[in-house]
Amino acid sequence: MKLYVIGLGPGDEKYLTAEARYALEACQVVVGYQRYLDLIQDLIKGKEQFSTPMGGELKRCRMALDFAAGGKPTALVCSGDAGVYGLAGPVYELAPEYAGVEILVIPGITAALAAAALLGAPLTNDFAVISLSDLLTPWEVIAARLSAAAAAGFPLCLYNPGSTKRKGHLEKACDIILGCRSTETVCGIVSCAGREGEQSRIMSLGELRNQKADMVTTVIVGGAETGLIGGKMVTLRGYRRD
Ligand code: SAH
Repeated sequence: MKLYVIGLGPGDEKYLTAEARYALEACQVVVGYQRYLDLIQDLIKGKEQFSTPMGGELKRCRMALDFAAGGKPTALVCSGDAGVYGLAGPVYELAPEYAGVEILVIPGITAALAAAALLGAPLTNDFAVISLSDLLTPWEVIAARLSAAAAAGFPLCLYNPGSTKRKGHLEKACDIILGCRSTETVCGIVSCAGREGEQSRIMSLGELRNQKADMVTTVIVGGAETGLIGGKMVTLRGYRRD
C-alpha cells in the first residue's frame, strides 16, 4: 500500500502543492505532529488522524509505515519539505522492514525559500543551508561547517536557530561567521513564514547576534554579493556586471 511522505510547505494551505493536495485526498490515515495536522484540518476532516509529541519522529514514521503495511493508504506530513530536516530519510531507513509499502515523497516549499521570498532575493546564486540544532549533529561539526561555509563567501541559510532548550546557538553561530564577514553584512530573520504571525526583518550581522530566535525562525546571512535594494535583501549574480 502507498505511504505518501508529504511536505506541507511553510504553513498556510495556499502554499500546499496540487500534488500534496491530491495525496491528502487519496489517503485514509494522516500521521503528523499535531500542529501540522491542525494547519490542514479542513482538508483531512473525517480521516483517521494520529500524532505523537515533538521528539517522537521515529515513532511517527513507524506508525505511518504500520498503517500502510496494514493496507490503508497513509500520509505522513511534515512542514516545509519532507526531505529537508524532515521524515523522508528515516522513513526510507525503516522501509526495508516493511515489504510491500510503496513510498512516495511529495515535495513542499522549504522554509529557506519561503523566508527568502519575504526578504527579497537573497538566494540568487550558490548558498548553503545549515541547521544549528545539535540534537542529532554534534556542535563541533556544526561549528566546522559554519566556518567553512562562511569562508566560502556565499549566503547562509540557518534552520533551527533556537528553541527554549537550545539558547545561545544563534549568537555562537554569528561569532563564528564574524570571523570571515563584517558586522555590517546584510542579514534577514523571518518568523512564522507563510502562517499566522509572520514577521520578517532585515538587519546587520552585528544586530543579528543579539536576536532571539525560536523554533519557527529561519535566518539568512548575506554573502559577499548581498546588499540592500529598496529595503530588500538582494544577492547580485552578476547580470549587470558587463
Ligand atoms: N522540513 C522543514 C524544516 C524542519 S526543521 C522545511 O523544509 O522547512 C525546523 C526549522 O525549519 C525551524 O526551526 C525553522 O528554522 C524552520 N521553519 C519551519 N517552518 C518555518 C516557518 N513557517 N517560518 C520560518 N521558519 C520555519
